[in-house]
Amino acid sequence: MKIGILGAGVVGLTSAWWLAEAGHQVVIVDRHATPGAEASRANGAQLSYNFVAPFASPAMLRKLPGMLLSGEDAVRVSPSLDLVRWGIGFLRACTNAEVARTLVAQLALATLSRAELELLLRSQDIEFGLRTAGKLVLYRSAGDFAEARLPGADAEQQVLTPAECLALEPGLRLAARALAGGVYTPSEQVGDCAAFCAALFALLKQHRNADVRMATPIGNPVVTRGRLTAIETAHGKIEADGFVLSLGSGSKAFARACGFDLPIYPVKGHSITIPGRALSHSVTDYSRKIVYAPLEGATRVAGFADFKGYDNAIEPTRIATLKAAALQTFAIEDTGSNAPWAGLRPMTPDSRPVIGASPLAGLFLNTGQGMLGWTLACGSARLLTDLIDGREPACPPEPFSAARYV
Ligand SMILES: Cc1cc2nc3c(=O)[nH]c(=O)nc-3n(C[C@H](O)[C@H](O)[C@H](O)COP(=O)(O)OP(=O)(O)OC[C@H]3O[C@@H](n4cnc5c(N)ncnc54)[C@H](O)[C@@H]3O)c2cc1C
Repeated sequence: MKIGILGAGVVGLTSAWWLAEAGHQVVIVDRHATPGAEASRANGAQLSYNFVAPFASPAMLRKLPGMLLSGEDAVRVSPSLDLVRWGIGFLRACTNAEVARTLVAQLALATLSRAELELLLRSQDIEFGLRTAGKLVLYRSAGDFAEARLPGADAEQQVLTPAECLALEPGLRLAARALAGGVYTPSEQVGDCAAFCAALFALLKQHRNADVRMATPIGNPVVTRGRLTAIETAHGKIEADGFVLSLGSGSKAFARACGFDLPIYPVKGHSITIPGRALSHSVTDYSRKIVYAPLEGATRVAGFADFKGYDNAIEPTRIATLKAAALQTFAIEDTGSNAPWAGLRPMTPDSRPVIGASPLAGLFLNTGQGMLGWTLACGSARLLTDLIDGREPACPPEPFSAARYV
């Protein structure tokens, strides 16, 4: 089948690779000249296979008013009609039953993702700084720490005292009294998502089943007798037997043009990349919602969840807060500009991606990976390919079906 892949972020590129390897003829289309140029560029770099808890939860619902009012500042909101609609879905997902369903589904998809990435690396020699660095989650509040150990997570997960956290990660320069404790998961990985996108794109350019159309903004869908048969682009029409919607936070607008609503909201985050590797493990400061990842010769610092629409401009106050947090937390030197960046996470209300058929014939969905798109990309691509090919899916597909929304 000839399949148009809409979007060359990490989700579009992995979809393209898995489908091309399964024998489909893929055409990748993106508005940027280079792949992975939006949310997949300078993200938190954590391959967080065990930490897949949804953003929506009873605990988050309890904390959200305080977070918004306290000036703690991890989350900012500008109300809009789109956000109110999304927020209703978010509130519905804030039940213990929905959280449990999401955890089980995401753990299965994350486990598949890890296995699929390993398979890819067995056959292809690509370099993106992948390391099993282990992940240390630091808790500053006793209440958060008490709820910390995740059900269903890696059996090797260790609960640490503040002193043990400081001994494990010598790069930390916090006082033990600043911490309530930590959870360490040795198996978690880090990798540079932009480098992965660039490497996979290079492989796809050589692939006999793949064609790429970069610097090609996508316009309207062309629907013929109830089926998506082509897309209009800045450089003419592209026809195919099927299409995969993986436009990240741009997916909602394309779905709307196809006649259905996808509740995907762009949740903005920021990052900086500081030269020098300041730490040995990846570290999440749970209370401040900031993640730190050791990359090749650099430290990535990322965080915040701003619900403020599609503006992806870098906000200097966010960058200053990230930098101040990094300087307080680690033995890091202030080296100037530190590559400030902002990206829009494509978030669904229940934090689960939407993978599989859409209400429009000829259009498949692989989008809405939200805070975990790098972690879930390879598993999502495998699940999508199974569903398109009518094979037994490698993990349960129902929790990711669009039927829950449309
Ligand atoms: C600050 C931050 C930290 C993060 N940290 C992590 C982390 O540590 N671990 C993790 O797993 N995930 C993390 N994420 C999430 C992850 O980065 C995203 O989920 C993932 O990158 C989404 O990939 P995507 O391919 O769906 O979207 P994108 O990468 O945004 O790709 C969508 C593509 O579609 C193209 N496009 C959109 N509209 C059009 C159009 N009309 N015409 C043509 N092309 C179009 C865009 O150009 C883009 O290339 C983080 C995100 C942020 C912002």
